[in-house]
Amino acid sequence: MPSRRKVLLGAGAMVSVAGLGVVRAWALSTEPLAPVDLEALSLACGGQSAHTQLLADARLLLDDAIKRGVKPADATETVVCPLCHCAFQVAPDISF
Ligand SMILES: [Zn+2]
Repeated sequence: MPSRRKVLLGAGAMVSVAGLGVVRAWALSTEPLAPVDLEALSLACGGQSAHTQLLADARLLLDDAIKRGVKPADATETVVCPLCHCAFQVAPDISF
């Protein structure tokens, strides 16, 4: 059986690692893209098929929220592509 001291040290280490992960993820998410890189990503996302899965996933989540009564039946969701930053309006796909 681990001693109380070891358990506390282990918990402290886990919190520290988690804290580092949050800081690192935040730094990555706020890293600005160079205009050239953003343009390249926009070209990669240019086709409609690149966003098909993104929109399908968003519609699935929206439908689920409507079924659970979290959102009204006529709710829409705005989805932003993480690559090209294009915004899409997703309407529910439910027929009650
Ligand atoms: Zn895109």
